[in-house]
Amino acid sequence: MVEHKAARQATAVLTRGFDPRLSLGSARPAVFRSSTYVFSSPEAAERAFDVATGRAVEREGEDVELIYSRISHPNAQILEEQIVPLERGAKSALVFNSGMAAIMTALMTFLRPGDTVVYSKPLYGGSMHLIHDYLSLFGIAGIGVPAGRSAELDSAIRGAENLGVVFLETPANPTMTMVDIRRAAATAAERARRPVVMVDNTFLGPIFQHPLTLGADLLLYSATKFLSGFSDMLAGVALARDPALIQQMRGTRILFGNILQPDECWLMDGRLPTVSLRMNKQSKNGQRVAERLARHPRVRAMHYPTLFTDAEQIRIREAQCDFPGSVFSFDLGTKAAAFAFLRNTKIGSNAVSLGGVETLVCHPRTTTHSGLTPEEYAEIGITDGLVRVSVGIEDWRDVVADFEKALDRIPAEA
Ligand SMILES: *Cc1c(COP(=O)(O)O)cnc(C)c1O
Repeated sequence: MVEHKAARQATAVLTRGFDPRLSLGSARPAVFRSSTYVFSSPEAAERAFDVATGRAVEREGEDVELIYSRISHPNAQILEEQIVPLERGAKSALVFNSGMAAIMTALMTFLRPGDTVVYSKPLYGGSMHLIHDYLSLFGIAGIGVPAGRSAELDSAIRGAENLGVVFLETPANPTMTMVDIRRAAATAAERARRPVVMVDNTFLGPIFQHPLTLGADLLLYSATKFLSGFSDMLAGVALARDPALIQQMRGTRILFGNILQPDECWLMDGRLPTVSLRMNKQSKNGQRVAERLARHPRVRAMHYPTLFTDAEQIRIREAQCDFPGSVFSFDLGTKAAAFAFLRNTKIGSNAVSLGGVETLVCHPRTTTHSGLTPEEYAEIGITDGLVRVSVGIEDWRDVVADFEKALDRIPAEA
């Protein structure tokens, strides 16, 4: 694997991790779809198994041979090398066949029966289900603290019995409420058994938020969103400062069989050099659209980082986010008004998911966040009239015009 140590992010993502000589000189990686690999000698096979099972450690510069694609394959290796420079502070990465696969593998690797996971609320719906309806069956307890309540999060981290993992998602979906990563990581570090501090960095990473530089240990991504960027594939990524954490997860991934497949790795790999371009454009668009819509008389509240009014939220934003991103939500008062907006907009497609180059809109209360209790809705600020938007790379003036028209056409009685 080629490495250019001095290169900055935008260069390294194009120059690191791929040696054209290993792909017949092909300027971009080839796809290696083989399920199994031919060993050069029985000794090489023995060595490969020793390293893969952890009985031996790969030496600096050693070329350990490939074994079988569930363990690893060239396209996963290339992608895992190339994604590291995109994440500040990362040393090592692992790719999965969805964001949930990465999250599941992380939690199953670092938690044991009797452990507790303290998390910020709301997490992604799948993560909440995983903790409460599945990990609970294995004797793992979950303690959730609403995003933004720093002192409450501190006491949960200090007081939890057998704390194994602190799991943060910031900004929280769909209200964009932020969690102070540095503070939570510092509190976690006070514990005798240091829990693994994980951050789901899907919303602002890897370009605008860098939790590994703030004390987090492990980052998890739904690469289905901004990293892949075109709403045409599923993928997940885990990244860490300490390669030992990734090595532990690699063992679990071999058992679960949830490595990202060669074709998907290849597709993702081609998207990496444009992640920064897309996210910057989407964030600029997001800011312009959110700030304009906030002034529309039908919009009762706008949740977007540059429009925060809470002093503590502004402080966290300044401390840990470079740019506000392209996701926001706004309150239209009633479900009828929200549905009318979704029906009226022509540019925003009514779909869940986010981070793609096209603008998507949805109603969290009845879709991504349906099935919660009234107390939970109140606690995390999801109202009947809330609409979530993920802005794409269209001309922002067209998006504003379309959204304003869609708002104007909401019936007065809705
Ligand atoms: C979509 C999403 C996930 C789940 O990822 P999949 O790729 O759909 O498995 C996890 N966390 C966040 C924040 C997400 O937006």
